[in-house]
Amino acid sequence: MSIKHLVRSNIKNLSAYSSARSEFKGQADIFLDANENPFDTGMNRYPDPLQWAVKEQISRLKSVPSENIFLGNGSDEVIDLLIRIFCEPREDGIILLPPTYGMYKVSADIADVAQREVSLTGDFQPNIPAILAEADKNTKLLFVCSPNNPTGNDMEAEKVHELCRQFPGIVIVDEAYIDFSDQESFSQQLDKYPNLVVMQTFSKAWGLAGIRLGMAFASEEIIGLLNKVKPPYNINQLTQKAALDALQKQAEQEKMVAIILQERNRMAKVLENLDFIQEVLPSNANFILVRVAAPNGLYDYLVKQGIIVRNRSNVHLCAGGIRITIGTAAENEKLIAALNKYSN
Ligand code: PMP
Repeated sequence: MSIKHLVRSNIKNLSAYSSARSEFKGQADIFLDANENPFDTGMNRYPDPLQWAVKEQISRLKSVPSENIFLGNGSDEVIDLLIRIFCEPREDGIILLPPTYGMYKVSADIADVAQREVSLTGDFQPNIPAILAEADKNTKLLFVCSPNNPTGNDMEAEKVHELCRQFPGIVIVDEAYIDFSDQESFSQQLDKYPNLVVMQTFSKAWGLAGIRLGMAFASEEIIGLLNKVKPPYNINQLTQKAALDALQKQAEQEKMVAIILQERNRMAKVLENLDFIQEVLPSNANFILVRVAAPNGLYDYLVKQGIIVRNRSNVHLCAGGIRITIGTAAENEKLIAALNKYSN
């Protein structure tokens, strides 16, 4: 399957901006090409527009060649770029699988791109026949979030394979929470599926939401399109440096993930024993969705205790839903103490 016919014609024909630093390749001592300030502030030079040093480290860690990696200003930037690359405003559309992450819809709305929603099944899995029935020649993208936000479950791998095989457009598998799951990443399936984009992020398991760094893994063709459309220096120097530092200390990331998983399992048991909690949904992410009879009351009570959780009770299939992020052991203890005092 070629993906060329899926790309907007203006993007196919676009001459990308060519920055000073990407035109010069080689060694030099004096750079008078980019109208930078010559005085060394530590940050007076533009950063590498293609972030090769960071990609090399990510490549090793993820077993994905650097040429198949794109870095965005958070995965939110990747979502926005993909919609703008593939979807003609007011003409093309995307498919969303609610309940799911909210930015797919917001980015599509900003781009004036229509969405068709195909509900996840009762056990929060993709409904493949319904998805395929909704897709037509203008359907360009399908967003599959696994583990899913806000429900916390993995999408069954075989279902995602089937969607990659059958969906007539680009399948984007958002793996923001993959490091908290036992599921194998779809980043190892790129050779099989030219229409697959896998997204991951430094915002969750790496503890670096503040640096804004998201990853996309895809064919060289799709990576080329993302590079063509992105702002020239979308990943700033401080971010590249922070990512390189973190990637040198992978053991620390693993330690944080291990503690979060331990706390998640502990919290699930505690929550199950509270009589006003009707259901604790099994989670493969760093949060737990629970159902209660009076979600607004519980939310307001916790706010008064200085604890903010996410009220998802108005979200499709999430009636009564409160999403609780796993904090430090001390934070979780405070939440437990507050919940123990709460009576309906
Ligand atoms: N995808 C999902 C499923 C998310 O939950 C989030 C953040 N909450 C993002 C993407 C955005 O991540 P980033 O911080 O990399 O923009």
